[in-house]
Amino acid sequence: MTMREATGTATKEPIDWPEGKGFAPMPQVPLVDLGTQYRSIRNEIDAAIQHVLDTTSFIQGEDLTLFEREFAEFCEASNAVGVASGTEALYLALLACGIGPGDEVITTAFTFIATAEAISQTGALPVFVDVDQRTMNMDASEIEAAITKETKAILPVHLYGQPADMGPLLAVARKHGLRVIEDCAQAHGARYQGRRIGTLGDIGCFSFYPGKNLGAFGDAGAVVTNDDQLAEHVRLLRDHGRKDKYEHLIPGINGRLDTLQAAILRVKLRSLEDWNERRRAIAEAYTDRLKETSGLTTPFVPEGMEPVYHLYVLRSENRDDIRRQLSEKGISTGIHYPIPLHLQPAYRDLGYFAGDFPESERAADEVFSLPMYPELPMDWVAQIAEATKRAQRSLSR
Ligand SMILES: *Cc1c(COP(=O)(O)O)cnc(C)c1O
Repeated sequence: MTMREATGTATKEPIDWPEGKGFAPMPQVPLVDLGTQYRSIRNEIDAAIQHVLDTTSFIQGEDLTLFEREFAEFCEASNAVGVASGTEALYLALLACGIGPGDEVITTAFTFIATAEAISQTGALPVFVDVDQRTMNMDASEIEAAITKETKAILPVHLYGQPADMGPLLAVARKHGLRVIEDCAQAHGARYQGRRIGTLGDIGCFSFYPGKNLGAFGDAGAVVTNDDQLAEHVRLLRDHGRKDKYEHLIPGINGRLDTLQAAILRVKLRSLEDWNERRRAIAEAYTDRLKETSGLTTPFVPEGMEPVYHLYVLRSENRDDIRRQLSEKGISTGIHYPIPLHLQPAYRDLGYFAGDFPESERAADEVFSLPMYPELPMDWVAQIAEATKRAQRSLSR
């Protein structure tokens, strides 16, 4: 797509040409653009929706079964179970692992709140550890010190689409007999030493929130696991513990994935590999242009990791000023996340203090996310990178 097509008409506004480059003007750039993606697969999506409407099989319909099979295959897992959201996936995975009141679950202080919320929902206590300064993922070397008699599980997050440091983490879990529940909400398709995330631990939890790498048209989620018993347990829990229509084996909940969402996800799953590839190309282009800029830190990808860049996250001590300058140029940015979980008002009662997790706190003060979606034109990527570089330079002078 050229700039002209994107903006509709040539602009009459004064053009801020990047010095020495023949770029056309860029319109407002969103952080994520779901509309362009929908238009690119509109016919298939609309037909899939129409098919569900025609069959009226809205709950536990055929598309759900098929999606579960296809998503399991994509994750190289033996089971996938569709659920109502990513938060529900985490909650039901924890329940299926036997986590409940009196238990402790170790997780990262630097993630979206749903990770810890799911632990709280079971009645267990979230116990935070700090992140690695370079990856901003859970620091595996800090886990052992956080283990008590009550610890039952470790819940790593593959933040921004970058696999957590699973080798050392799994070793600690094995040594202490702990379950490992992976929060894969931002990492559909990422690989750790050649293996898809989600099956490295006991069970992997995915979100299909619309903006995620694989997004539904509403709330949706899934768990994947190679443990047939865990899969069966989640299957029961998500549907009222139901064996037959009115025979219930255990008290469960209504945590099902709608057939409509499953039908949409089946269409989108076919493009996920290409979209992730494109995200990696965009990330590479950003990093190539930004890595030499002093004061800016580009994403660190350790050996053996294949990330899927749900987000492209930079760090700078001038974060707020850079964001302001980019915003003036029509470039949207985000902060993922501005407050670490141990300092959230919701978790006041856990008794943590500022200073407890210095790396998480410093990350929260410095991170910002550039626009990232598969349909983002490469020449915009270049202009966004150029504008970011210039903003940083103007500030660190
Ligand atoms: C999106 C997200 C969730 C929650 O997923 P929902 O589908 O919105 O409930 C959990 N953890 C992380 C890290 C997320 O990014």
